Amino acid sequence: MKIICIGRNYINHARELGNPVPEEPVFFMKPDSALIRNNKPFFYPDFSNEIHHEVEIVIRISRLGKHIETKFADRYYEEIGIGIDFTARDLQKKQATEGKPWEIAKAFDGSAPLGKFVKRSSLPDYHAISFRLEKNGKEVQKGNTKDMIFGFDELIAYISGFLTLKIGDLIFTGTPAGVGPVKIGDQLTAYLEERRLLDFYVR
Ligand code: ZN
Repeated sequence: MKIICIGRNYINHARELGNPVPEEPVFFMKPDSALIRNNKPFFYPDFSNEIHHEVEIVIRISRLGKHIETKFADRYYEEIGIGIDFTARDLQKKQATEGKPWEIAKAFDGSAPLGKFVKRSSLPDYHAISFRLEKNGKEVQKGNTKDMIFGFDELIAYISGFLTLKIGDLIFTGTPAGVGPVKIGDQLTAYLEERRLLDFYVR
């Protein structure tokens, strides 16, 4: 199982980090050791002083495929969930400045808390999903997948042009504006529509 994450997929988030709006998707990967399931706590790592939350809608691949055309991409996922792409922003800035890869800032243990999934057929319109993140009960991020620069189908087509997608692979589809730091003791709660699918503490 692999975890593919999309960078800069919401214009307002690309702008808040001072990045240009991309003309094609930007993706990177996390290993399976990044996953946290069942609302287990995230342990703040000692190599960073600036861990940021990025709440993201996640799709789970349900069919094996490569070189998938956009018009058929819809057949490759049935379940949609929500997760956090934890980012060591201090390390990410340093790596970017030095032209080095992002893994130490993005792929570390526990950097991908993952909530429960819902069947997309249970959603009124799975191309316009509202979602949000609360930190200690206060809303910090809010988005809607209709504002993605590249939609689910375009992402699947693009990624599968480079690597084979397998059943169970996860795609974190990018974060809206409002990313910010977490600290030990914070509670993070993520909602897909009004469904609370993820709820955990930073320890
Ligand atoms: Zn992200």
